[in-house]
Amino acid sequence: MSEQPKGCIFCVKPSEDTDKDNYILHRSKHAFVIMNIFPYNNGHLMVVPYRHLSDFEMLNTEEKAEIMDLISLSIKALKKAFNPEGFNVGMNIGRIAGAGIADHLHAHVVPRWGADTNYMPVIADTKVLSEALEDTYIRLKDLFKEQ
Ligand SMILES: [Zn+2]
Repeated sequence: MSEQPKGCIFCVKPSEDTDKDNYILHRSKHAFVIMNIFPYNNGHLMVVPYRHLSDFEMLNTEEKAEIMDLISLSIKALKKAFNPEGFNVGMNIGRIAGAGIADHLHAHVVPRWGADTNYMPVIADTKVLSEALEDTYIRLKDLFKEQ
């Protein structure tokens, strides 16, 4: 286990027992799914390994497999909940690449609709959301339970 510095939200939030308040939608053995509270788009999720790692190549095989599974589950749940027309899925590795929290790897799953803005402007600016984060949480939580 890597050391978990104080204040890393991706270490602190899963260690707490308040998943609803922390917008954690789903937990697996090696990784979890959490909503981005500063979303690029409504339904913006993040898949995060529990281990505090900054380098993609340090993930072990189980973690990599589970991250891919959780990205797939996230896409399924988002399709059912919001019927998006597409997705951006990816990782910003390192601060220079745009990672907000560069010390703890995380994958973004961002649903896209034809009417939304282009990706680059979207990631540069937090949009006003059409749906409250809490409503989104409730809608998605049930869909993750079904999987
Ligand atoms: Zn961390």
